[in-house]
Amino acid sequence: MNLLDYLPVVPDFPKPGIMFRDISPLLANAAAFKEATHQLAQISQDLEFTHLLGIESRGFIFGAALANELSKPLILARKPNKLPLDVHQESYGLEYGTDLLEMQKTILPTDAKVLLIDDVLATGGTLLASAKLVEKSGATVAGAITLLEISFLAGMQKLANQGVVAKSVLQ
Ligand code: IMP
Repeated sequence: MNLLDYLPVVPDFPKPGIMFRDISPLLANAAAFKEATHQLAQISQDLEFTHLLGIESRGFIFGAALANELSKPLILARKPNKLPLDVHQESYGLEYGTDLLEMQKTILPTDAKVLLIDDVLATGGTLLASAKLVEKSGATVAGAITLLEISFLAGMQKLANQGVVAKSVLQ
């Protein structure tokens, strides 16, 4: 099975000039979703981690599936004002303006080794902000994994420059 067949490119979404990879057909096919989860588990194998951090919102889907498959705890990095209790915040650049991610301050033990998970790695800004949230908690970033890397945007290199090892199932 070629998982890329289930991730069609939608031109000019959400804005003109963007070639958007739609994960909906992959999720809508049980065998493809299962295979994607297996392959995420495989690329996570040589990274030593105790917790997964899923990034809102599509990172929640793969993060939840993988957390169950590997029996690991799942932590949420959420868009602003969604989480109760005290949160760490990290802003990151978007094409126009900035956005914020938040994580609860006391949810991670300081000895946690955290693997970040999202659906797509593009410029790397989202994963880098998530890595900073983990560091603000005093925990360690074990690495980052995604289903798909949009390689010409060089997000993996951007993460490597900040000491975050990133891996992707598909390019
Ligand atoms: P980055 O911060 O530029 O690496 O963008 C990654 C974030 O944008 C992830 O949370 C993705 O869900 C989302 N994203 C970027 N490009 C795509 C795409 O082509 N398909 C689906 N999501 C995308």
